[in-house]
Amino acid sequence: MTTDWTATRALFDLPDGVAYLDGNSLGPLPKSVPARLAAMLGDEWGRMAIGGWNRAAWMQMPAALGNRIAPLIGAAPDTVTLGDTLSIKVYQALSAALEMRPDRRKIVSDTGNFPTDLYMARGLVDTLGRGHELVVVDPEEVAAHLDDDVAAFMLTEVDYRTGRKHDMAALTARAHEAGIVAIWDLAHSAGALPIDVTASAAEFAVGCTYKYLNSGPGGPAFIYARPDIAGTIRPALQGWLGHDAPFDFDLDYRPAPGIARMRVGTPPVLQMAALDEALKVWEIADIHDVRARAIALGDRFIAGVAATCPELSLATPREPGQRGSQISFRHPEGYAIMQALIAEGVVGDFRAPDILRFGITPLYLGTDEIDRAVEILARIIATRSYDDPAFRARNAVT
Ligand SMILES: *Cc1c(COP(=O)(O)O)cnc(C)c1O
Repeated sequence: MTTDWTATRALFDLPDGVAYLDGNSLGPLPKSVPARLAAMLGDEWGRMAIGGWNRAAWMQMPAALGNRIAPLIGAAPDTVTLGDTLSIKVYQALSAALEMRPDRRKIVSDTGNFPTDLYMARGLVDTLGRGHELVVVDPEEVAAHLDDDVAAFMLTEVDYRTGRKHDMAALTARAHEAGIVAIWDLAHSAGALPIDVTASAAEFAVGCTYKYLNSGPGGPAFIYARPDIAGTIRPALQGWLGHDAPFDFDLDYRPAPGIARMRVGTPPVLQMAALDEALKVWEIADIHDVRARAIALGDRFIAGVAATCPELSLATPREPGQRGSQISFRHPEGYAIMQALIAEGVVGDFRAPDILRFGITPLYLGTDEIDRAVEILARIIATRSYDDPAFRARNAVT
């Protein structure tokens, strides 16, 4: 397939005059979502009421959507399910992983991980009370810490701040040599770059759908377990919808046969309908094309900023194979600069303490937006227009 970028872009409702470089944080609205949600409210919830669970197959949505996400992450059919948020899915994967290695006590993660992953891990360790230890090392040091004491590693493939990308296949192979269970967080990978969880042989992968998969704020997360273990792992969160037969209303929990055991409670069907629409872009877009164009646009952005904004230092690896699909720069006034950019219609975001972050999303971005972003960024820095106190007032979400 050769992706037609005019066609993919036409599927998104982007605010007028805005260069939206924040699709790594919240993907934009697919144009077909409002009508789909209206139909869902009117024809399904409105007319069918509770009948929607059967007649509109709401109850099957987590599995059906899992099968649509599976090809994007290189997973086989029926190995992915959806629900909850990513924090919950991280907890489920890690707890299942620790039970697979009952004699080991260490969990390895890195300082590039998103804090919620680390918080959830520490919460789990405290709840278990069995002396597990979360070892958080520099990203470059991970491989050196994969020894026989480690039960599991829990890594995010692409660093949310710098965009640095781990070598998933190599680290997983290294982990397996030492008998370590591999958990990959694909929050900044799914929909941004080709992933092959099957080839990597990783035991678990999790990710969210509201970033590069455009499901909208609060969209459900996904979880994958390798098929040979999916039927034996023990769910820490034994919700009724992960039961083998929820409508038997058994007083005892018995997990569903495969990945469905990682379901917890009632699926968020409105969000899932939005995700179902958002995934339609993958019927006309090829993830390899997306990756190639993201690299080209990212290189263009890096070169443009290097030529016009010497005060900004690149925080992202210049080598395309070592980065995901975002480009970040550091500047001590990063927050104010980003607010000034947003006021001029260039939307990226800021991550403390000093990172300006720009998502490169070829499904709906091209060279025009990249060039405009460079031009406006250069002007804001040259004129120091970001010095305005209005740009220093911190919002709750940065
Ligand atoms: C975005 C992100 C999350 C968000 O978790 P939620 O529970 O969905 O809010 C978690 N982990 C990583 C690595 C992320 O990038």
